[in-house]
Amino acid sequence: MGIPVSSGIAIGPALVLSSGPYPIPQYHIAQDIVESEQARYLAAVQHAIAELAKIESDTQTLRDISIIFMGHRFIIEDTGMQEEILAKISQDLVNAEYALNDVMRKHRNKFQALHSKYHQERVSDLEDVENRILKHLLGQTDRGRENWDQPAVLVARDLSPSQTAILPQAKILAFLTDIGGKTSHTAIVARTRGIPAIVGLGSVTSQIINGDLVIVDGKRGIVIIAPDKPTLEKYERQKIQEQIRRQKLQELVHLPVETLDGHKITLRANIEDSSEVLLAMANGAEGIGLYRTEFIYLHNPDPDEEAHFEAYRTALQYLGGKKLIIRTLDLGADKDFGLDDFQGEKNPFLGCRSIRLCFEKINIFKKQLRAILRASLLGRVEIMFPMISSLEEVLRAKAILEETKQELTKANIGFDPRLRVGIMVEIPSAAITADLLAKEVAFFSIGTNDLIQYSLAVDRINPRVASFYKPAHPAIFRLIKQTIDAAYENNIKVSMCGEMSSEFVIPLMGLGLRDFSVTSSIISEVKELIRSVTMREARQISAHILTCSTHEQTIEYLAQVKKT
Ligand code: PEP
Ligand code: MG
Repeated sequence: MGIPVSSGIAIGPALVLSSGPYPIPQYHIAQDIVESEQARYLAAVQHAIAELAKIESDTQTLRDISIIFMGHRFIIEDTGMQEEILAKISQDLVNAEYALNDVMRKHRNKFQALHSKYHQERVSDLEDVENRILKHLLGQTDRGRENWDQPAVLVARDLSPSQTAILPQAKILAFLTDIGGKTSHTAIVARTRGIPAIVGLGSVTSQIINGDLVIVDGKRGIVIIAPDKPTLEKYERQKIQEQIRRQKLQELVHLPVETLDGHKITLRANIEDSSEVLLAMANGAEGIGLYRTEFIYLHNPDPDEEAHFEAYRTALQYLGGKKLIIRTLDLGADKDFGLDDFQGEKNPFLGCRSIRLCFEKINIFKKQLRAILRASLLGRVEIMFPMISSLEEVLRAKAILEETKQELTKANIGFDPRLRVGIMVEIPSAAITADLLAKEVAFFSIGTNDLIQYSLAVDRINPRVASFYKPAHPAIFRLIKQTIDAAYENNIKVSMCGEMSSEFVIPLMGLGLRDFSVTSSIISEVKELIRSVTMREARQISAHILTCSTHEQTIEYLAQVKKT
């Protein structure tokens, strides 16, 4: 069992990716090719030894360095280790890359457990040696990658949001990862693309081998490897039922988003890329409530003003007059996209993330602000600052926006002077001081993914603490209520763009929310919930929830009233 993050059933062959510099194919081999597989392995070892001998001689004048490579050569030449790897190939009938990785991993784990500096260094030596042999093995064959030709269930230790976003979607049936949490950005990307995904499985990469038939039940978080016939047939039937349900949800797309007693609700979509606007609209979104613009960095590590402008222009063009809320860069934490800026931060979620980075790098921030301001003439644009923790930060961000406006005016560049400015309420201090912040902005958007993480001190991507990540914790409902009340008292708009609304939309409506932005693939499901109650019922449900003392009580109650 893992953490279910994107529902749906997938059935298909596995494609296992390693987390190292090389993807390590894993597959079974036939008995009659054991010898040739062992020979392939030994040839790679010979290449690696020759390579190391050459580096050793090239670095002879640099004694310290030369010794390191000599050490690596000794590791490779260690006959005990080689025999283990050859035996693994013949006994388990597995390919050379997998046998090498498996044996080396066991040795590395042994060293790692010793915790001394000396042994940690040996771990890196072993990694280096393994990668060197792998390079030669993979150079000789493309096996293992050939499976990319057919759709597969992708299995990996971890996938960064950037990897997830650029993988060939049409070929991915589902995602399975060893680590990750429900609102990790990888999970969000999987959900947006409607791909079933389970994360936090612990050691799925060592349990599944390339080509194994697997069933993924993304709703329950269950993975079945090499299913028997009755199980396979059961899931095939469920898959058909799921398709029928999808069709039913599809019929909801054109129906109004309103409660049984006619209260209108706005449902917008969260996107990571302008191209997703079309999908969002097709799913019935009434605009974009959260554009995660940091994903522009995925394709371009240093986007200029034009790259930003182009992204916003495209989104607005697809939106045809509907609203686009552009969130300024939320780079950092698990969205560091390999940028040097974040290397070495010990607590990235508490680090120089988001608006803090923008304050530090005013030029990057202003580049984006200029592009947003220019785009404001092309459609209904609103701007939103993320990770606000205090009034000073709101004032500072607004001051930089004002400065940018003045610069544009001086340069005779047009923008909409009435561009509305909002903030994300995703840090407890912002929710607690929402009455103060509301005086300075036109709207709040409640970001529960982070609000939960920061309120309950639970890392949103760490599966080990995933059970402590409790959206229905009374503290969360209280903070949300406080934020909504402050917005109403100060006559500003309030919406929610965190993932929580998908499950708790009814009590959230009861608390006063009328505006939500969700992953576009679940718009119809949320709409179905909204259309199943009257506002009076929603209010009764939220009133009861405010009396619950624990997350579990709330969940139980909601299950009873069958409204979630
Ligand atoms: C949130 O924190 O709830 C949110 C919507 O932003 P992100 O998931 O991008 O951090
Ligand atoms: Mg956030």
